[in-house]
Amino acid sequence: MTAVWVAAALVLIGAIAWARCVRSPRPPPLPEAWRAMVRALPQACCVPDTLQARYEQRAEAFLRDKRFVGCNGLVVSDQMRVTVAGFAALLSLRDEATNFPAVRSVLLYPAAFLVRHDEPDEFGLVDDEPVEQIGESWQGDRIVLSWEDVEAALAGDAVNVAIHELAHQLDDEQPWSDGAPAMADYTRWSAVMQREYERLRRHRRPPVLDPYGAESPGEFFGVVSEAFFQRPVELRRHHAELYALLSDYYRLDPATHPPQWLPAA
Ligand SMILES: [Zn+2]
Repeated sequence: MTAVWVAAALVLIGAIAWARCVRSPRPPPLPEAWRAMVRALPQACCVPDTLQARYEQRAEAFLRDKRFVGCNGLVVSDQMRVTVAGFAALLSLRDEATNFPAVRSVLLYPAAFLVRHDEPDEFGLVDDEPVEQIGESWQGDRIVLSWEDVEAALAGDAVNVAIHELAHQLDDEQPWSDGAPAMADYTRWSAVMQREYERLRRHRRPPVLDPYGAESPGEFFGVVSEAFFQRPVELRRHHAELYALLSDYYRLDPATHPPQWLPAA
């Protein structure tokens, strides 16, 4: 791996959410209605028949093993649980994929939430002003999501905060968080990702990728994973090599079977 992908790390720790969270009970045994919901996830239309059973099993495992917590008064519904589990399953279709072992909880807020970071920035300064976030990924613990923004992704928004934060968790399964999830051979991954990362950093108005991806290799992996599921046709057109890399990694081809978005709620 090249130095930049090894050295640049994303650390999202020390966050304090300004809200009171209430544990929701574990979901009941999964009914057929759940299977219908997980199959109905717009982004799941690209799951081939050969991977359909695995997709449902991975979603079921996520639902079984993770605790969902409603925050700021949000009552977590089955649809919310199944939607997040479906996104987790979409990122876990590789033979060797694990069930996000570090994630114990999924915290859901009704909408964007305020967070105070007490970690010093690159200049050693601590800014104690709360900032608004739509999602967070805590290493070795949890992901935090704004449900309003998860719903926007179901309706076709270019941002998919669930995919983004779960991609960070895949990244964090390595000892280093550098935009490179676990895999046997990094030769192709490092070459393509570094080339595309540098391209995004140079581009003032990128046509597909969120400029936020230029923040670090870790954020780049989150942003390109979002684009892969939310704007697959455009990603393939403008970044064919990157699209092919992600298609091989996630074992999906969403540009060939693009999502039919749900009407916005
Ligand atoms: Zn991020």
